[in-house]
Amino acid sequence: RAKQAGRDTWRFANERLNGLHMPQAQLEVQLRGALDRDELSMHFQPLIDLSSGRVRSFEALMRWTSPVLGSVSPADFIPVAETREMMGGLGHWAMRESIRQMCAWQSELPGVGVAVNVSATQFIHDGFVADTRAMLDDYGGTPELLTLELTESSVLADLGQARQKLLELRALGVRVALDDFGTGYSSLGHLRSLPVDVLKIDRVFIQDGHTDMVFVQAMISLGHSLGLEVVVEGIEDASMVARLQALGCELGQGFYFARPQPAEQAVAAVLCAPLSMLPLS
Ligand code: C2E
Ligand code: MG
Ligand code: MG
Ligand code: MG
Repeated sequence: RAKQAGRDTWRFANERLNGLHMPQAQLEVQLRGALDRDELSMHFQPLIDLSSGRVRSFEALMRWTSPVLGSVSPADFIPVAETREMMGGLGHWAMRESIRQMCAWQSELPGVGVAVNVSATQFIHDGFVADTRAMLDDYGGTPELLTLELTESSVLADLGQARQKLLELRALGVRVALDDFGTGYSSLGHLRSLPVDVLKIDRVFIQDGHTDMVFVQAMISLGHSLGLEVVVEGIEDASMVARLQALGCELGQGFYFARPQPAEQAVAAVLCAPLSMLPLS
C-alpha cells in the first residue's frame, strides 16, 4: 500500500514522524477517526492590508487535538492524510467549515474574506469546482471573498488540467493564491500562463536569519508586473512591516499581527484594533 501511495511522499512523512517519536501507524489510525470524533477544528490568522492596517481576510488553518497523541501539527498530519487517501474528507470539511465561518462573521466584519488551503489531491479531484460552488451556495457566500491557496506542486502536477480548473474558479469569482512561492521547483514560465490572483511569498525568505530582501523585492516586483497581489507570510516584527511597506507589498501575515486562533478570538482581536493593526510610526 505504501508503494501504491507514492514512495517518496510517504518516506518523507515517515521521517518527520519518526523525528517526533510518533508511530506513524498510530497516527494514521487516529487520524482516520478524527473527523467523526470531532477532534478537528479550524483556526484563523488575519491578512493585513499593509497600506491601511485593516484586516482583509483570514487564512483558515486546520488543527487536530487527539486525546491519544495530543496536538499534532498539520505539517505532520496533512502529508499522511494525502498519502493515505484521507485528504478528500478532511479538505472538504475544512473548506465547508471555513466558508460557513466567513458567512457567519459578515455581520461583524463585512467584506472580510477567508483563504483556504487546498491540497493537490483535493484540487485534482473532478468535482472540486462544483463542490466549491455548492458550498458557497449553501451558505450564501460571496465568491469574491473566498481565496483558495494552492502550492506550486499541486498546480504543476498537471498543468493543462490545472489551468482549466483555475479558469473555472475565476469564472465563479473565486480568487486563487499561489502559496509558499519561491520554495518549489517551478519554472517562472509556468507562472506566466497560470490564471492566479495572488502570490504568497514563503516565510523562509524573511526568517531564521535568512532574511534576504533582495529576493523578497524581486518576487514582489515579479508579482506586480504580472498584475498579482502580493502577500508576505511569517512577519514577526515591526521592522519587517516597514520594509515591506517600502517595497509596496499589499498584504502581510504573521505572528506580529496575530497568531492563528479559533474564530471567536480571531475576530475579537480584530475588533479590538478596528482601525489599524500596523505599528505606530
Ligand atoms: P501555509 O498554508 O503556508 O500556512 C502558513 C503557516 O505559517 C501556518 O502553519 C501558520 O501558523 C504559520 N505562520 C503564520 N505566521 C507565522 C509567523 O509569523 N511565524 C511562524 N514561524 N509561522 C507562522 P500551520 O498552521 O502549522 O500550517 C502548516 C501548513 O499545513 C500550511 O502552510 C498548509 O500548507 C498546511 N495546512 C494547514 N491547514 C490546512 C488545511 O486546512 N488544508 C490543507 N490542505 N493544508 C493545510
Ligand atoms: Mg496557506
Ligand atoms: Mg505558505
Ligand atoms: Mg507552507
